[in-house]
Amino acid sequence: MGRQRRLCQICKQKGQRRESVVYMKEHRLALCEEHFKEWFERRVRETIKEFKMFKPSERVLVAVSGGKDSQTLWFVLNKLGYDADGFFIDLGIGDYSEESKQKVLELGKILGKEPKIVKLEQELGAPLPVVQNLVMGSACSVCGRIKRYHFNKVARELGYRVVATGHNLDDEASSLLANVVNWNVKYLARKYPVLPEEKGFPRKVKPLVKLTEEQIRLYADLSGIPYTDRSCPMGDTANLHFYKGIMEQIENHARGTKYRFYFEYLKKIFPIFNSLKEELVKGELRRCTVCGEPSPSEVCFVCKLRERIKEKSPS
Ligand SMILES: [Zn+2]
Ligand SMILES: [Zn+2]
Repeated sequence: MGRQRRLCQICKQKGQRRESVVYMKEHRLALCEEHFKEWFERRVRETIKEFKMFKPSERVLVAVSGGKDSQTLWFVLNKLGYDADGFFIDLGIGDYSEESKQKVLELGKILGKEPKIVKLEQELGAPLPVVQNLVMGSACSVCGRIKRYHFNKVARELGYRVVATGHNLDDEASSLLANVVNWNVKYLARKYPVLPEEKGFPRKVKPLVKLTEEQIRLYADLSGIPYTDRSCPMGDTANLHFYKGIMEQIENHARGTKYRFYFEYLKKIFPIFNSLKEELVKGELRRCTVCGEPSPSEVCFVCKLRERIKEKSPS
């Protein structure tokens, strides 16, 4: 991407001269604001169709964090005419959560849709910073598990069979790289832009996988989508940034590699790992005896946490 003074190629075809707002090197494409937005929206629609993510008649629950990717996803799905609702988990991480929630509420107003908000403190009895002190593992992995649990639960309770997340091409290519470097085959067997409904879990979809971070930011800015640029103060993102940096270096060395690396993986390698999924992803899922959610153990991770928080808090 770059912002050289070029003319929009689509306008040019129509015999008009309009300056471009973007030049996408990997597509050799310069577009004006109107045609960039059109291009972006078409790309999302094509991704949804190509991977059979959901039909226009299906209600979609969008996991929104207040950041540019998920906010853009919620916005663009509505613009494309899908019935998409926002769902936000208030983790209780001070100003950060407060600002994120405000952005979600702001976008809800623009879309004329009330976001669904779950407050972790009410669900678990404590906000994330307290929860984090009670368990082993990084804040991100604990937070990830808590979020997934609630997406599944809320989706089922409210009758959504599809949950959408704002993962973009940069996220997917760099996490693929990290998992290949570490031969994390369990993860590779499940790395796909759509995961089918199974064992009490809703379908999981990632409609922004063909778009880069830069493209999403430009679309959000041009469309006036509210979002926060703050990253989570509890997050340890050093590893993620490291692999994103490497991926960017490879991309700068050979344009289009990022896209090829991910989409050729999906086409050529994923089917092989996926056919071995039963062997790779061991452990049957059963139902948690406390809350009834799918869980690999008798009592699920979140119910165990809730118990521990109760024990620790003076009554
Ligand atoms: Zn144009
Ligand atoms: Zn449970």
